[in-house]
Amino acid sequence: MNDSAGTAFAFDNSYARLPQRFYAATQPSPASAPRLVALNSPLATEMGLDLSGLSPEALAEIFSGNRLPEGAMPIATAYAGHQFGGFSPQLGDGRAVLLGEVVTPDGRRLDIQLKGAGRTVFSRGGDGRAALGPVLREFLVSEAMHALGIPTTRALAATVTGDPVYRESVLQGAVLTRVASSHIRIGTFQFFAARQDHEALRLLVDHALTRHYPDRLGAENPALALFEAVIARQAALVAEWMRVGFVHGVMNTDNMSISGETIDYGPCAFIDAYDPAARFSSIDTGSRYAFANQGAVAEWNLARLAEALLPLLDADENRAVELATTALRGFSPAFSAHMLAVMRAKLGLQVAHEEDAALARDLLKAMHQGGADYTLTFRFLGEALGSGMGFMEVEGLFADASAFQAWLPRFEARQALETEMAESRAAAMCRVNPLYIPRNHQVETALAAAAEGSFDLFNTLREVLKHPYERQAGLETYAAPPTSDWKNYRTFCGT
Ligand code: AMP
Ligand code: MG
Repeated sequence: MNDSAGTAFAFDNSYARLPQRFYAATQPSPASAPRLVALNSPLATEMGLDLSGLSPEALAEIFSGNRLPEGAMPIATAYAGHQFGGFSPQLGDGRAVLLGEVVTPDGRRLDIQLKGAGRTVFSRGGDGRAALGPVLREFLVSEAMHALGIPTTRALAATVTGDPVYRESVLQGAVLTRVASSHIRIGTFQFFAARQDHEALRLLVDHALTRHYPDRLGAENPALALFEAVIARQAALVAEWMRVGFVHGVMNTDNMSISGETIDYGPCAFIDAYDPAARFSSIDTGSRYAFANQGAVAEWNLARLAEALLPLLDADENRAVELATTALRGFSPAFSAHMLAVMRAKLGLQVAHEEDAALARDLLKAMHQGGADYTLTFRFLGEALGSGMGFMEVEGLFADASAFQAWLPRFEARQALETEMAESRAAAMCRVNPLYIPRNHQVETALAAAAEGSFDLFNTLREVLKHPYERQAGLETYAAPPTSDWKNYRTFCGT
């Protein structure tokens, strides 16, 4: 039995008001000795949660699921999904419990979910638990993505449960308190489509439009309006991932949010040296979710959303397919346009010129050939443009700089087409080209230390990553690429 804490969160649980087949009421499993290890106070404030007066012990009780804040209505939501191309008609929250939705002082509706809070009716063979490492990884990386300016779920708190979880070894159990504008996924639509439950699909379309695309609520064809809106947001989102070198790692349709937020940080990682084929997940052996595939995968996932929505698009099946196909055809040009805009911004090009795509492509080729760090190449290009001191530092990032040396005169000549001062363009470049990203070697080192009980490095990384675009004195090592022995780094879902 979970005690209800007297804490007042302004819950208004609209998902729990949907029909019962959307979810299963679920109590979080008790944690035997909960301890708070990370709290995101600025986010709590933003959400209008009054945590003042709560001791760390009381916070640990709440964020481990031992005490439910008043007004919480804990549920596990139902969804399906294509995992690595194969369809599972029933996945659902197998180790997550949605406490409810709060409406923030500025009017945003946000889900609060406990991830790792024990078994649910959707757990299948799993234990419903999460280990400390993956919880801290999601905490760090999702907050870093937010600071980078990329739509994402957020991390409000992390607690250790005091209970072991059994993976390849015995690990500490932990719970992540995740905040999202909703947890509705492509897979949520697929769940009802697989059951030919058109009424549920209609309710879900309406619910998703209300929450995420209210300007499209009165649309003549609501399912089509939703589909087009999701296409637009996903095209923009994946281009933003490409901007910062993010590899999601497990872009299954159940891990793609209808809101356009990055969700479900499992085996994610950032690239160091540029490699379009970069993949880190130990289970993605076919490289389905490699860095440069992410746009195409998003499009494939959106086609699955289209299939789920077909019965709502038009009563005539041929007409429905035609509408879906036409809309889906918009993805590729939208994504390409975002990518070109991203590359122009990364190169500080404010005047559009038709050679820009080739200029960007050839720099990437030179980086790939020369083993140059993706993040620092663009950052140092911007800093060099601003200082006017030459491009030696950029060149130093290349093990083999021959292709870069051939490219550089083109970049320098291209400056003549610009109208703004170099200094202001350089400053703009430093606002889109981060200096600090959550580098795999640092994240791993921080998580290993945390597993031993030392959270100093985790906390320092958290701080550094709050300001990814600002050079922070004395923290240069956090900008540094790893030594070459991290080349074959692999991530594990760790669930
Ligand atoms: P993910 O790969 O994290 O997106 O998870 C895919 C599916 O497996 C979702 O339905 C999860 O809820 C479920 N799942 C993952 N880990 C566990 C676990 N430890 N116990 C129960 N279900 C899990
Ligand atoms: Mg998932």
